Amino acid sequence: MENRSVALDGPAGAGKSTLAKRVSEHFGLIYVDTGALYRSIGLFVFRNNVASRDAEGVLKLLPEIRLDMRYDDSGVQRMILNGEDVTEDIRLPEISVYASDVSAMPAVREFLLEMQRSMAVKYNVLMDGRDIGTVVLPDAGLKVFITADASTRANRRYLELKAKGIETTFDEVKDAMIKRDKNDSEREAAPLKAADDAVILDTSELNLDESFDALCNLVTAKFGEK
Ligand code: C5P
Repeated sequence: MENRSVALDGPAGAGKSTLAKRVSEHFGLIYVDTGALYRSIGLFVFRNNVASRDAEGVLKLLPEIRLDMRYDDSGVQRMILNGEDVTEDIRLPEISVYASDVSAMPAVREFLLEMQRSMAVKYNVLMDGRDIGTVVLPDAGLKVFITADASTRANRRYLELKAKGIETTFDEVKDAMIKRDKNDSEREAAPLKAADDAVILDTSELNLDESFDALCNLVTAKFGEK
Protein backbone atom coordinates (compact mmCIF):
# COMPACT_ATOMS: atom_id res chain seq x y z
CA MET A 1 0.00 0.00 0.00
CA GLU A 2 1.24 3.48 -0.81
CA ASN A 3 2.70 5.32 2.15
CA ARG A 4 0.67 8.49 2.44
CA SER A 5 2.64 10.00 5.27
CA VAL A 6 4.25 13.41 4.89
CA ALA A 7 7.63 14.23 6.47
CA LEU A 8 8.11 17.92 7.09
CA ASP A 9 11.54 19.06 8.25
CA GLY A 10 13.26 22.41 8.57
CA PRO A 11 14.85 24.92 10.94
CA ALA A 12 13.16 26.81 13.78
CA GLY A 13 10.60 29.42 12.79
CA ALA A 14 10.20 28.24 9.19
CA GLY A 15 6.46 28.02 9.81
CA LYS A 16 6.36 24.24 9.96
CA SER A 17 3.90 23.81 12.81
CA THR A 18 1.43 26.49 11.69
CA LEU A 19 1.40 25.09 8.17
CA ALA A 20 1.40 21.50 9.33
CA LYS A 21 -1.72 22.07 11.42
CA ARG A 22 -3.63 23.61 8.53
CA VAL A 23 -2.48 21.20 5.87
CA SER A 24 -3.09 18.10 7.96
CA GLU A 25 -6.60 19.29 8.75
CA HIS A 26 -7.22 19.96 5.06
CA PHE A 27 -6.13 16.47 4.00
CA GLY A 28 -7.38 14.55 7.06
CA LEU A 29 -3.89 13.58 8.19
CA ILE A 30 -2.89 13.25 11.85
CA TYR A 31 -0.45 16.02 12.71
CA VAL A 32 2.50 14.90 14.84
CA ASP A 33 4.68 17.67 16.24
CA THR A 34 7.85 15.81 17.21
CA GLY A 35 9.53 18.96 18.60
CA ALA A 36 6.99 18.74 21.44
CA LEU A 37 8.49 15.37 22.46
CA TYR A 38 12.02 16.80 22.71
CA ARG A 39 10.65 19.87 24.47
CA SER A 40 8.89 17.69 27.06
CA ILE A 41 12.12 15.88 27.85
CA GLY A 42 13.85 19.29 28.02
CA LEU A 43 11.19 20.50 30.45
CA PHE A 44 11.58 17.45 32.67
CA VAL A 45 15.37 17.91 32.74
CA PHE A 46 14.95 21.62 33.53
CA ARG A 47 12.51 20.92 36.35
CA ASN A 48 14.90 18.41 37.86
CA ASN A 49 17.73 20.94 37.95
CA VAL A 50 19.92 18.90 35.64
CA ALA A 51 22.07 20.89 33.18
CA SER A 52 20.87 20.63 29.58
CA ARG A 53 24.22 19.28 28.38
CA ASP A 54 24.77 16.83 31.24
CA ALA A 55 24.35 13.64 29.19
CA GLU A 56 24.83 11.36 32.17
CA GLY A 57 22.29 13.26 34.26
CA VAL A 58 19.76 13.26 31.41
CA LEU A 59 20.27 9.54 30.81
CA LYS A 60 19.46 8.82 34.45
CA LEU A 61 16.18 10.73 34.17
CA LEU A 62 14.90 8.98 31.02
CA PRO A 63 13.36 5.95 32.81
CA GLU A 64 11.23 8.37 34.86
CA ILE A 65 9.68 9.95 31.77
CA ARG A 66 6.35 8.83 30.36
CA LEU A 67 5.07 10.75 27.35
CA ASP A 68 1.67 10.66 25.70
CA MET A 69 0.30 12.60 22.79
CA ARG A 70 -3.43 13.23 22.85
CA TYR A 71 -5.69 15.08 20.49
CA ASP A 72 -8.39 17.40 21.77
CA ASP A 73 -11.81 17.82 20.11
CA SER A 74 -10.46 20.31 17.58
CA GLY A 75 -7.62 17.96 16.64
CA VAL A 76 -4.93 19.92 18.50
CA GLN A 77 -2.08 17.80 19.83
CA ARG A 78 -1.75 17.92 23.63
CA MET A 79 1.52 16.83 25.18
CA ILE A 80 1.24 14.83 28.39
CA LEU A 81 4.32 14.39 30.58
CA ASN A 82 3.86 11.88 33.43
CA GLY A 83 0.13 12.55 33.40
CA GLU A 84 0.41 16.36 33.34
CA ASP A 85 -0.61 18.45 30.33
CA VAL A 86 2.54 20.47 29.49
CA THR A 87 1.43 21.74 26.06
CA GLU A 88 1.89 25.39 27.06
CA ASP A 89 4.89 25.05 29.40
CA ILE A 90 7.10 23.48 26.73
CA ARG A 91 6.85 26.60 24.53
CA LEU A 92 8.86 28.84 26.87
CA PRO A 93 12.09 30.11 25.22
CA GLU A 94 14.38 28.56 27.88
CA ILE A 95 12.85 25.18 27.12
CA SER A 96 13.79 25.57 23.43
CA VAL A 97 17.44 25.57 24.48
CA TYR A 98 16.94 22.52 26.69
CA ALA A 99 15.12 20.72 23.88
CA SER A 100 17.91 21.44 21.43
CA ASP A 101 20.63 20.31 23.87
CA VAL A 102 18.96 17.06 24.95
CA SER A 103 18.01 16.26 21.36
CA ALA A 104 21.69 16.02 20.44
CA MET A 105 22.02 12.99 22.76
CA PRO A 106 21.69 9.65 20.90
CA ALA A 107 19.99 8.02 23.94
CA VAL A 108 17.26 10.66 23.86
CA ARG A 109 16.70 10.20 20.13
CA GLU A 110 16.55 6.44 20.57
CA PHE A 111 14.07 6.86 23.44
CA LEU A 112 11.66 8.73 21.14
CA LEU A 113 12.16 6.88 17.86
CA GLU A 114 9.70 4.03 18.33
CA MET A 115 6.98 6.33 19.59
CA GLN A 116 7.25 8.46 16.46
CA ARG A 117 7.37 5.50 14.09
CA SER A 118 4.41 3.77 15.71
CA MET A 119 2.27 6.85 15.06
CA ALA A 120 2.97 6.54 11.34
CA VAL A 121 2.13 2.83 11.39
CA LYS A 122 -1.29 3.52 12.91
CA TYR A 123 -2.24 6.63 10.94
CA ASN A 124 -1.49 8.61 7.82
CA VAL A 125 0.52 11.35 9.46
CA LEU A 126 1.98 14.68 8.69
CA MET A 127 4.99 14.67 10.98
CA ASP A 128 7.17 17.70 11.55
CA GLY A 129 10.67 17.83 12.99
CA ARG A 130 14.33 17.88 12.00
CA ASP A 131 15.07 14.28 10.97
CA ILE A 132 11.70 12.92 9.88
CA GLY A 133 12.61 12.43 6.21
CA THR A 134 16.15 11.26 6.97
CA VAL A 135 15.74 8.99 10.03
CA VAL A 136 12.24 8.59 11.46
CA LEU A 137 10.23 7.99 8.26
CA PRO A 138 12.72 7.34 5.47
CA ASP A 139 9.88 5.79 3.41
CA ALA A 140 7.47 8.71 3.77
CA GLY A 141 5.43 9.18 0.59
CA LEU A 142 6.31 12.87 0.49
CA LYS A 143 9.21 14.72 2.09
CA VAL A 144 9.32 18.48 2.28
CA PHE A 145 12.12 20.59 3.72
CA ILE A 146 10.66 23.93 4.58
CA THR A 147 12.89 26.91 5.17
CA ALA A 148 13.17 30.71 5.07
CA ASP A 149 15.97 33.20 5.66
CA ALA A 150 17.03 33.77 9.27
CA SER A 151 15.56 37.27 9.66
CA THR A 152 12.17 36.22 8.32
CA ARG A 153 12.09 33.22 10.63
CA ALA A 154 13.19 35.26 13.65
CA ASN A 155 10.56 37.89 12.94
CA ARG A 156 7.80 35.26 12.75
CA ARG A 157 8.92 33.70 16.03
CA TYR A 158 9.24 37.14 17.66
CA LEU A 159 5.66 38.07 16.72
CA GLU A 160 4.44 34.69 17.95
CA LEU A 161 6.10 35.15 21.38
CA LYS A 162 4.92 38.75 21.64
CA ALA A 163 1.35 37.68 20.93
CA LYS A 164 1.63 35.23 23.83
CA GLY A 165 2.79 38.09 26.09
CA ILE A 166 6.35 36.75 26.41
CA GLU A 167 8.81 39.60 27.03
CA THR A 168 11.65 39.55 24.47
CA THR A 169 13.32 41.52 21.63
CA PHE A 170 13.80 40.71 17.95
CA ASP A 171 17.60 40.55 18.37
CA GLU A 172 17.32 38.15 21.30
CA VAL A 173 15.01 35.88 19.32
CA LYS A 174 17.25 35.99 16.24
CA ASP A 175 20.44 35.22 18.20
CA ALA A 176 18.81 32.34 20.04
CA MET A 177 17.41 30.96 16.79
CA ILE A 178 20.75 31.08 14.97
CA LYS A 179 22.44 29.33 17.92
CA ARG A 180 19.76 26.63 18.01
CA ASP A 181 19.98 26.02 14.24
CA LYS A 182 23.74 25.69 14.51
CA ASN A 183 23.35 23.26 17.40
CA ASP A 184 20.75 21.22 15.48
CA SER A 185 22.68 21.21 12.17
CA GLU A 186 26.14 20.44 13.52
CA ARG A 187 25.31 17.62 15.94
CA GLU A 188 26.34 14.10 15.00
CA ALA A 189 23.08 12.37 15.89
CA ALA A 190 20.42 12.93 13.23
CA PRO A 191 21.37 16.52 12.32
CA LEU A 192 18.93 18.93 10.75
CA LYS A 193 19.22 18.41 7.02
CA ALA A 194 17.08 17.87 3.97
CA ALA A 195 16.69 14.26 2.81
CA ASP A 196 18.13 13.70 -0.67
CA ASP A 197 14.62 13.10 -2.00
CA ALA A 198 12.97 16.04 -0.20
CA VAL A 199 11.34 18.94 -2.03
CA ILE A 200 12.76 22.26 -0.76
CA LEU A 201 10.11 24.87 -0.01
CA ASP A 202 11.51 28.34 0.73
CA THR A 203 8.81 30.52 2.30
CA SER A 204 10.92 33.72 2.70
CA GLU A 205 8.84 35.53 0.08
CA LEU A 206 5.53 33.82 0.84
CA ASN A 207 2.87 34.78 3.35
CA LEU A 208 1.00 32.13 5.32
CA ASP A 209 -1.75 31.59 2.74
CA GLU A 210 0.75 31.34 -0.11
CA SER A 211 2.87 28.87 1.87
CA PHE A 212 -0.26 26.86 2.65
CA ASP A 213 -1.17 26.73 -1.05
CA ALA A 214 2.37 25.73 -2.01
CA LEU A 215 2.41 22.87 0.49
CA CYS A 216 -1.11 21.73 -0.48
CA ASN A 217 -0.01 21.65 -4.12
CA LEU A 218 2.89 19.38 -3.23
CA VAL A 219 0.62 17.02 -1.29
CA THR A 220 -1.98 16.97 -4.08
CA ALA A 221 0.64 16.39 -6.75
CA LYS A 222 1.88 13.35 -4.80
CA PHE A 223 -1.31 11.82 -3.39
CA GLY A 224 -4.08 13.40 -5.43
CA GLU A 225 -6.99 15.47 -4.11
CA LYS A 226 -8.03 14.82 -0.51
O1 C5P B 1 10.32 22.11 16.37
P1 C5P B 1 10.69 22.68 17.71
O2 C5P B 1 11.32 24.03 17.63
O3 C5P B 1 9.58 22.61 18.69
O4 C5P B 1 11.83 21.67 18.25
C1 C5P B 1 12.55 21.91 19.45
C2 C5P B 1 13.92 21.27 19.34
O5 C5P B 1 13.78 19.85 19.35
C3 C5P B 1 14.70 21.59 18.07
O6 C5P B 1 15.51 22.74 18.19
C4 C5P B 1 15.56 20.35 17.88
O7 C5P B 1 16.76 20.47 18.60
C5 C5P B 1 14.76 19.25 18.51
N1 C5P B 1 14.12 18.38 17.54
C6 C5P B 1 14.87 17.36 17.00
N2 C5P B 1 14.30 16.47 16.13
C7 C5P B 1 13.01 16.58 15.80
C8 C5P B 1 12.22 17.64 16.33
C9 C5P B 1 12.82 18.54 17.19
O8 C5P B 1 16.06 17.24 17.27
N3 C5P B 1 12.48 15.67 14.99
